[in-house]
Amino acid sequence: MRNYELEVPISKENEALEKKDEKCITCGYCKEVCKNDVTVARMFEVSPDREPICINCGQCAMVCPTEAIHERWDYLRVKEILENKNEKKIIFSIAPAVRVALGEEFGEKGSNVEGKIATAFKKMGADYAFDITFGADLTIMEEAQELVSRIEKNGVLPQFTSCCPAWVKYCEIFYPELLPNLSTAKSPISMQSTLIKTFFAKKIGVEPENIVNIVVAPCTAKKSEIKRKELSKTKQDTDFLLTTRELAKLLKEKEIDLSKLEETSFDSPLGTGSGAGVIFGSTGGVCEAALRTAYYMITGKNLEKEALNFHVVRGMDAIKEAEVEIAGKKIRVAVCNGMKNAKELIDHLKKKEVEYDFIEVMNCIGGCIAGGGQPKMTLLETEDTKKIRMKQIYKEDERMTLRLCHENKEIISIYEEFLGKPNSEIAEELLHTKYFDKSDMLGGMNHDK
Ligand code: SF4
Ligand code: SF4
Repeated sequence: MRNYELEVPISKENEALEKKDEKCITCGYCKEVCKNDVTVARMFEVSPDREPICINCGQCAMVCPTEAIHERWDYLRVKEILENKNEKKIIFSIAPAVRVALGEEFGEKGSNVEGKIATAFKKMGADYAFDITFGADLTIMEEAQELVSRIEKNGVLPQFTSCCPAWVKYCEIFYPELLPNLSTAKSPISMQSTLIKTFFAKKIGVEPENIVNIVVAPCTAKKSEIKRKELSKTKQDTDFLLTTRELAKLLKEKEIDLSKLEETSFDSPLGTGSGAGVIFGSTGGVCEAALRTAYYMITGKNLEKEALNFHVVRGMDAIKEAEVEIAGKKIRVAVCNGMKNAKELIDHLKKKEVEYDFIEVMNCIGGCIAGGGQPKMTLLETEDTKKIRMKQIYKEDERMTLRLCHENKEIISIYEEFLGKPNSEIAEELLHTKYFDKSDMLGGMNHDK
């Protein structure tokens, strides 16, 4: 009999994680993080008659000292595909936060290694290497337009972000009454993968089933997200989702030393992102990126350079709030840094003690830079490592001349050539999704703890 007072159960059906009970030393770290930070183990008690509830966030894997819990190792399958390459086109892409963490596995802590990653993908046999910062820019175009429409047409507010799959699942299970508040915009990975299997496949004259689309992300919950049928326009738009840790394992097994590689650029047309797309990787980044573009959508003008940095939504505070005046209208925003803080804010919201127009929620404390699939940190290094990664993200945004999603030439051209305008009929069809009430998973249990 397992001791679920101390450890979390991971079901065999879990789409993101695996647990090897024989490696568990019942240290209690996983239960502690799931209960105190993620709050799932606080909201739901394990019972032998019910499937354990898990939002696939991987924070338990991050703290597990023995690797008893780890992500499903899909990199082995990817390795096999690379080694038996046939006529299928192989596409690799990276999510924003991977670039500031992968270097840690190759002696380059505190560096942005995106150029080396692009080279490594090609060295492993990729036909194309893309950057999900493009998808992040696209998400902002769709999500900011949705926010502007909800504000102008007295729609359901506050609008919650929906790019964190762990938060989406948490909302579906524990707060289904908030589903109309969730932005219908798909996550950056999901938008980009749909475009790869539709727009890009057509552009290069290849059937979608002859493309192997592999995305590397800092997140374990994305392994589950890519299986959501409502997110795909083909059989499955993202074929494999590897974590940053898995990419490190894959490179090491293929004897590729990232630190020794030259830097190259990502391919076009899905390889360029703005600074706003890069900051998606940090808590507060989605909110800041959305404000930059919502301002333009409402006023037709860009914010002055000095006003682009919304310092108030940056950093590691639990809940960050701001009030931004756009064309005489005050927009109230909040950023929840981690699920426990989101839960607290939702409790206040439900009691009508606070009011907002836009709320960003990220499950992991620090945002995607601290995702459950990033290189492991010891407890002592955790805070410093998160700060170093975050600093790199904002440094990259400052360094770039392109800092606004709506000024990204690849974004402008995909709207001109294919999508029309944000929230157009085709954009709604390809780039938006729906959510489902999953509260029956609780089996009638009261979760308001
Ligand atoms: S993945 Fe997240 S929700 Fe699932 S058991 Fe681990 S910490 Fe809890
Ligand atoms: S963190 Fe790992 S070793 Fe510790 S109780 Fe959880 S599964 Fe077992």
